Parts: sequence; structure tokens; C-alpha cells
Amino acid sequence: LEAHLHQAQKMESLGSLAGGIAHDMNNVLGAILGLASANLESQPPGSPAHQAFQTISKAALRGGKVVRGLLDFARQSPAEERELDLNALLSEEVGLLEHTTLSKVSLALDLGADLRPVRGDANALSHAFMNLCINAVDAMPEKGTLTLRTRNLDRDRVEVTVEDTGCGMSKEVLNKAMDLFFTTKEHGKGTGLGLSMVYSTVKTHHGEMEIQSEPGRGTCVKMRFPACAAPTQAEELPPGARPEAPK
Ligand code: ADP
Repeated sequence: LEAHLHQAQKMESLGSLAGGIAHDMNNVLGAILGLASANLESQPPGSPAHQAFQTISKAALRGGKVVRGLLDFARQSPAEERELDLNALLSEEVGLLEHTTLSKVSLALDLGADLRPVRGDANALSHAFMNLCINAVDAMPEKGTLTLRTRNLDRDRVEVTVEDTGCGMSKEVLNKAMDLFFTTKEHGKGTGLGLSMVYSTVKTHHGEMEIQSEPGRGTCVKMRFPACAAPTQAEELPPGARPEAPK
């Protein structure tokens, strides 16, 4: 038992160390990304400066993926939970992507009307969606379309789809894609953390995830989350007025 406790304490301090570093790095990368994309817009497409700023943006985006992986790993306590509008969350992300991801990829948004709210951690979910978008962009080096879709599914679920028209995956790759540290990307570009983190985030949100992929045609990742039930009476009360839970 003692060994276990010791190990748990070690993991905990490792986790908060990693979390601290990741948090700082996230700010640094955010600044780089912001500046690079602002400059990107003021350069004529195809010019050396435009290409340089694009390379910087892409590198910062990739760095962000590693950092988000660390942050998600470091999260020890249960994720912060509130009611979320996934349409709003995705729209925000698209704003970020639009500047950075290259003129070659077109972005399509197909957000369902009256989408039911989902209970969850906004940070973790937007990290997960962002990681999927980066994978999609990586899969379309020449050109292609990245489509983000949401809809209400049956009576009490919400579906989010991230689809690309990229290189797709063979059966062998698809089978291993969610394994921790599995990557087909060249050294320094892939960590193999992305999809395993996405999967664990979907699981902690009581969701399901499914990947369809065909070599040469593209990949479609579907996630289904339980929608929020109507607020219970207790949740509608102001905090102070909440009755004590029975001991
Ligand atoms: P990484 O992106 O760091 O390699 P991931 O866990 O996100 O790690 O992905 C693992 C592997 O799955 C990738 O290296 C790639 O081979 C494959 N993959 C993931 N998403 C896609 C996609 N949208 N299209 C094609 N292959 C993909």
C-alpha cells in the first residue's frame, strides 16, 4: 500500500510540474501564433515572407498539440463541468484555424440548429476537437476540405463530426491509431498522443467515438455525447439556498 501511495504522490507532483510548464508554454505559443497569423495576413500569398509566417504558425500549432496533451495528462482532479454550447466552442476554434491553416485547406462548418447543450469541460473538449483538426490538416498537405459538423442525435445525444478529404488510413494504421505513442509522422512532427487523448476526453464525458477512414479518400471522426438533461430543481436554486446533502 505504501509503495502505491508513494507512486501516486510521485505521479501527482509530476503531473502538477508538467501542468505548470504546459500552462506557461501554452501562453508562449499563443503569442507566437497570434503574431505569426497577424503578419501572415499582411503578406502576399506565395511570397517568401508569407511562407515563413505559415511555417511559424504551423510549428506553433503543433507545439500546442504537445502542450495540450501534457495539460490533459496533468489534470488530476475531475474536469470542470458546466453546460456547454458545442457550436460556440467549435466556432471559436475555427476562428483560430482559419488564419493559420493554410490557404490550401478549405473549412466548412455545418452546425446544427438548436443544438442541445452538453455537460463538460470546455478546455478539454476544445483541445480534443483541435487535435482532430490538426490531424485532418496534416492529412491534406496538397489541398482538401475540413468539415466540422454538429447535430442533435435521437432524443438525448449530440453528435460532433470532424471530417477530412485527406490521405486516409490503411486498416493497419486505423487499428493502431488510438494507441498511446503510435504515430506514422516523421520524427519531431508526431507524438502519437493526439488520438489517445481525444479518446480519453470523450470517455470522461461519457461519450463514444468512432473513426471511419479510407486510404486516398479521407477520414471521418464521429463523437457522440449525452445531452444535458433539463436542470433539476436543486441546480436552479442559488448556491446558498441549496439544502445540505444528507450525511
Ligand atoms: P500524431 O498526430 O502525433 O501522429 P495521433 O494520435 O493524433 O498522433 O495520430 C496517430 C496516427 O493516426 C497519425 O500518425 C496518423 O497516421 C493517423 N491519423 C490520425 N488522424 C488522421 C487523419 N485525419 N487522416 C489520416 N491519418 C490520421
